[in-house]
Amino acid sequence: MFVPKQVMAISHRTPATVDVLSDESRVSFVGAGPGHPELITLRGLERLRSADTIVHDALVPAAILDLASSRAIRIPVPRDATAGDPGEATGRLLVKLASAGRRVVRLKGGDPGVFGRLTEETAPLRAAGIPVEIVPGVTAALAAAAAADVPLTSRAAASNLTIVTGHEADDKVSPVDLKALAAVPGTLVVYMGVARAGRWAAALVAAGRSSTTPVTIVSRCSWPDQQIATATLGTLAQAFAKHQWPSPAVVIVGDVAAPRPSADTRALAGQRILLTRPAGQADELVAAVATLGGEPLHLPVVRIAPPGDWAALDDAIGAAATFDWIVFASVNGVRSFSARLRAKGRDARLLGTARLAAIGAATAAALGEAGLACDLVPAKASSEGMVAALLPTLRAGRVLLIRADRGRDVMRLELEQAGHEVIEVAAYATLPVATLDGDDEARLDAAPIDWVTITSGAIAEGAVRLFGERMREWRIASLSPVTSGVLTALGFPPDCEAVDSSAAGLVEAILRWQKARRTDHATPAELA
Ligand code: SAH
Repeated sequence: MFVPKQVMAISHRTPATVDVLSDESRVSFVGAGPGHPELITLRGLERLRSADTIVHDALVPAAILDLASSRAIRIPVPRDATAGDPGEATGRLLVKLASAGRRVVRLKGGDPGVFGRLTEETAPLRAAGIPVEIVPGVTAALAAAAAADVPLTSRAAASNLTIVTGHEADDKVSPVDLKALAAVPGTLVVYMGVARAGRWAAALVAAGRSSTTPVTIVSRCSWPDQQIATATLGTLAQAFAKHQWPSPAVVIVGDVAAPRPSADTRALAGQRILLTRPAGQADELVAAVATLGGEPLHLPVVRIAPPGDWAALDDAIGAAATFDWIVFASVNGVRSFSARLRAKGRDARLLGTARLAAIGAATAAALGEAGLACDLVPAKASSEGMVAALLPTLRAGRVLLIRADRGRDVMRLELEQAGHEVIEVAAYATLPVATLDGDDEARLDAAPIDWVTITSGAIAEGAVRLFGERMREWRIASLSPVTSGVLTALGFPPDCEAVDSSAAGLVEAILRWQKARRTDHATPAELA
């Protein structure tokens, strides 16, 4: 068998990855990637899920930590807070935890071996004979280059890539030789370079790199508030002073970093769209916006809570079989109803011959998820649409309406007027979100907002309460005529309104608005 020389040469060394499946006492150093939970490796994810103890950098975002088992204990290690050598102190902590029989993951931003104090942290483990495994991660340079659409090497512009720190500690044994680096052609990616951007950029220029060398700055790569900008070595310090791009950030230096006209021609490219639905209910909108190249920013302005009192819902569930129709006005209503049914140890059999109706395809889908078939979805996703669809099926009927604790009375009034008995039950409460936390404020302020989407009257009120006058600078997309009415009454008439009251319909309304506006400004030739 052919064995490459190089492999033979290193094969006498203990491999970094000790085999594993049986080895409970090893410590896995896992690269988390730049921050987005989709950018961790499958192996890293597996280690994270099976660990009972996660020792993590403060830099690793919650979205990644949340991938771990909820039972795992999380120990953050501040970067420089420990006395002596922070790397070794962490290494000793890892020894202690592993020796106590814990399954430990040491979760590090990016790749564990790139500016990660890996040598210092693994030394105490190796000395104690504890096996160490390294799971690589997407380092910031690679993630930033991908986000900025910059090729780190290219046949035309760069045949080599250098990764360097811009924050060289004074006591470092081998300080970065910027003079030598300036002489090397190709791409340079500077980590930890924000605080001293002026210094290292000037040093590179003084050593002969052109001051017009393009640079691309990627701040908070893959985080919700990622920013990408371009400058040159000569203007970098000024640009940092002006824009105050937050850490962490990397700077890509070299011809590959030259700005190019955006290749993204998708309909929402470059637009930041604020989504305001409650937590867990914006997935469809997030996906619709992102697919079209927009940047979704999800800040819920209301939250869903249990109803003030369960009695009415419990009574209604108990009497479910006596109704001709049970009508669900929203996904929340379905979820609350079916959760309560299960909590009482009951199931669908309790509903007997009652038929189920849902306003909107999403509500019908929620019934499906709860194991209940939906008998009726009106063509028009509104209270009026529901009444129109129900009336022909009823003769002196009994109807149960499952809805929020607030909202319109249209369905009850119209059905009652037609002679039917209606029981209306609040299955959940919609509560306003009182304030934005600091992180959300920062995400909101990170770049201008182009659109805010408003999907109900309660959300319109929540948004106006939370964002106030700021909303005047944003275009407003409304889900339905009813929502538009509330917005207008609040003094914030919408710029566009969905024809079909769904996530897709809302995005379509935004696209239609854009198209119409483009036509307004088109020249006669373009219109011809
Ligand atoms: N091990 C990490 C680097 C740790 S040093 C890795 O492989 O990526 C910390 C530096 O990494 C920061 O100062 C910044 O320059 C860079 N960095 C880490 N995460 C980043 C991110 N999400 N966006 C931009 N830069 C990042």
